Amino acid sequence: MTERSVDVCILGAGPVGGSLACRLAEGGASVLVVDRSALSPMEHPDFDGRAYAIAAGSQPFLQAAGLWQALPFQPCAIEQIRISDGKPGRPASPLFLHFDHRELRQGPFGWMIEARSLRIALNRRLNAGRGITLAAPADAKIERDEAGVTVTVGSGDKYRAKLVVAAEGRESPSRRAAGIPTIRYPYRQSGIVCAIAHEEPHRNTALEHFLPGGPFAQLPLGPANGAPHVSAIVFTEASAVAAALSRLDAPAFTHEVARRLGDHLGPIRLLGRRWHYPLSALLATRYTDRRLALVGDAAHGIHPIAGQGFNLGLRDAGVLGDLVLAALTAGEDAGDATLLARYQRRRRPDNLAMLAATDTLDRLFSTDNPLVRAARDLGIAAVHRMPPAKRFFMRRAMGIG
Ligand SMILES: Cc1cc2nc3c(=O)[nH]c(=O)nc-3n(C[C@H](O)[C@H](O)[C@H](O)COP(=O)(O)OP(=O)(O)OC[C@H]3O[C@@H](n4cnc5c(N)ncnc54)[C@H](O)[C@@H]3O)c2cc1C
Repeated sequence: MTERSVDVCILGAGPVGGSLACRLAEGGASVLVVDRSALSPMEHPDFDGRAYAIAAGSQPFLQAAGLWQALPFQPCAIEQIRISDGKPGRPASPLFLHFDHRELRQGPFGWMIEARSLRIALNRRLNAGRGITLAAPADAKIERDEAGVTVTVGSGDKYRAKLVVAAEGRESPSRRAAGIPTIRYPYRQSGIVCAIAHEEPHRNTALEHFLPGGPFAQLPLGPANGAPHVSAIVFTEASAVAAALSRLDAPAFTHEVARRLGDHLGPIRLLGRRWHYPLSALLATRYTDRRLALVGDAAHGIHPIAGQGFNLGLRDAGVLGDLVLAALTAGEDAGDATLLARYQRRRRPDNLAMLAATDTLDRLFSTDNPLVRAARDLGIAAVHRMPPAKRFFMRRAMGIG
């Protein structure tokens, strides 16, 4: 059987691996993408309640990948962020932080996009050829050597690439096969995700409400399923509480969401499904091995408190994509050890800082200890009075800090 040559093989057509494949192909590279699952069942004809917060700093990458302009549903801009400290069913602390994107004289902080919107755009591009060969559902056997990588796809088709990228999510088999150790930290919390329709407009404002059980976020979405005013809800609770919530019927669950949200959006109703995720932090001790690079959740998993997990993955893809395209343009080896070392140097500090920051935020806010509450309320008040500190936090939220 003949062996085809491609520049890069990407294992995993999830949001990070899929976006990297599109970026590389738009830049002129040839890419083989293998996913063990079929792509089409990931598309949901109806809104299913899941969404991503795309930070302003991640949007140019999705644009360069040709995906932003192909999203079938309009992204919803996040123009204001309100952070408060409180208890469900009680008024929030009078100390709160209000961030307005106009204070930075830049565009919005970011956008909310439905997960199915990105999936539809990804699936169309991955199936369109133009530099991308897609094998899904399929398994791949990977043999890495000094000069390159041999990929044998389930059917027996053989490919030779310069680099293999593992974008296989948290349980990445390639990471394990390469002997790259991970550090894991279970949060003993679960993330609960759903979407709501509400009577009052959200005015493009995101709310992060720190409750003793964990953070509660309401994020503005565009209209869906005939509802004009829609928001995504992401909140965390101790695993036992989350399990009890998952057993509630829809009216009782909606009541629990409303209690945490407050009444500023008027009456609410659930849209689409509810999702539950056990939360843990994960860190790969290395991002690379011979002719192998880890990206996205294969390299790191963080607490969803700041909605940054996918954004970190997109930043990995942005850096690796640029390095590979530059090497190909210069006629250099796209899987060379120097390139991989540069990739790790540029991505690990950012990912580590975000892991530490989200972990600290979770510890600081998921407590009802009166001393800790008093200290963080003072912190909130101090940030409010210091415009440079406010601007620093705003720039970090936008992914441009
Ligand atoms: C509750 C919650 C809310 C979140 N909200 C946000 C948010 O608002 N914003 C944000 O930025 N992030 C958010 N995140 C994080 C975000 O969902 C993840 O960071 C992102 O999905 C990771 O994408 P990925 O492509 O790296 O991995 P995955 O999405 O896990 O995709 C992995 C892909 O690899 C495939 N695969 C697996 N094994 C193999 C194999 N052996 N061979 C081939 N293919 C394989 C799988 O089929 C899959 O398609 C949230 C996470 C949680 C838990």
